[in-house]
Amino acid sequence: MNAPAGLNSLASVDPVVAGWIHREEQRQRGTLEMIASENFTSTAVMEAVGSVLTNKYAEGYPGKRYYGGCEFVDEIEQIAIDRAKALFGMGHANVQPHSGAQANMGVYMGLIKPGDTVMGLKLDQGGHLTHGSQVNFSGKLYEFVSYGVDRETETMDYEQMLTLAKQHRPKIIVVGATAYPRIIDFPRARAIADEVGALLMADMAHISGLVAGGAHPSPAGYAHVVTSSTHKTLRGPRGGMILCDEPHARAIDRGVFPASQGGPLMHVVAGKAVAFLEAAGEEFTAYAHQIVANAQALAETLIDAGLRVVSGGTDNHLLLVDVTAKGLNGQQAEDALARCGIVVNKNAIPYDTLPPNVASGIRIGTPALTSRGMGPQELRNVGALIVRVLDAPDDVEVARQVASAVEALCERYPAPGVPLG
Ligand SMILES: *Cc1c(COP(=O)(O)O)cnc(C)c1O
Repeated sequence: MNAPAGLNSLASVDPVVAGWIHREEQRQRGTLEMIASENFTSTAVMEAVGSVLTNKYAEGYPGKRYYGGCEFVDEIEQIAIDRAKALFGMGHANVQPHSGAQANMGVYMGLIKPGDTVMGLKLDQGGHLTHGSQVNFSGKLYEFVSYGVDRETETMDYEQMLTLAKQHRPKIIVVGATAYPRIIDFPRARAIADEVGALLMADMAHISGLVAGGAHPSPAGYAHVVTSSTHKTLRGPRGGMILCDEPHARAIDRGVFPASQGGPLMHVVAGKAVAFLEAAGEEFTAYAHQIVANAQALAETLIDAGLRVVSGGTDNHLLLVDVTAKGLNGQQAEDALARCGIVVNKNAIPYDTLPPNVASGIRIGTPALTSRGMGPQELRNVGALIVRVLDAPDDVEVARQVASAVEALCERYPAPGVPLG
């Protein structure tokens, strides 16, 4: 007779999937992960995410469930909620969104009706898919109007935001970005929202770790509602959350469940609770500041080498680099760096003249390398490696040397939480 289901290890049940996971572990250990939205979550978070909580249905909210046996998951979700509220200084938290995109859907479902007008940052200037892309539910269900960045400064054009807001009278103004290197002025955005009677939604998916660690101003006190993913700079499990103040709490909760989700992923909710605890510590504050110092060191190195960095630098965890001065497009730069073990993504730059599938730029982030323990000096070294590759993208000897320097760095700064072997 076979052993009861559940007793055998992954490697014995499914050596194929186990094998690919092992290969992915090797890839994460052996490459420099510079995708701005990625990070290494902790072993503690992964233990929670890999726990028996995945077996539990818990539709509803703590104390108000549609299933029995929720007494322990209630405790876990309440801890996650309380920690999120304390960490970000807001009155209410919903920790159930399965992802950042689901958090945004929860807000729209909870606060507005299909067909209502919403404003967000242009997608080709740093906005996210869920800020009105025509191929996304947001663009299909709501009437999105987009503001942009100023052509000269390449920073958010708040005057245009105000003009468009007066013209279109949106129900919600979304501020937040997926590829924007500067501080977002929440007070100014709130003043604009107030002027037209809109709600301000801060989508801090990318920067929530910086906000938690005090390395970026907080939207609390300005935004009526704040959404985030939990796996980017915040370094938690893959997931999302929504924060708001009391007047909107019930609408937000209903916007998530039952409007847009069924049962919450309680194993991930537990991972979020752990991540919020970690993010409240002093070490995390130092980490958040180090991310920014590292991005600035990298930006200086690239600028000194003749590359154009969008907006002239960075205030946060990422930079957008125009690679056309090196005779390359973003796709070519991404590919050349990948061949040497440096992982970035091609990215449109403001007012890009190339189509998005090639793009003129690359987006580079420092959260993951900072989690490996690297500091500004290492980032200057990495910057020099990037420049060597972009200067000679087809030179096999350069690629070989850079790849071996990358390997040495990876050995010196092990990826946290990624098993050896
Ligand atoms: C990453 C991101 C999201 C979505 O997060 P997912 O977890 O990938 O769904 C939403 N908004 C912004 C601004 C983001 O950068």
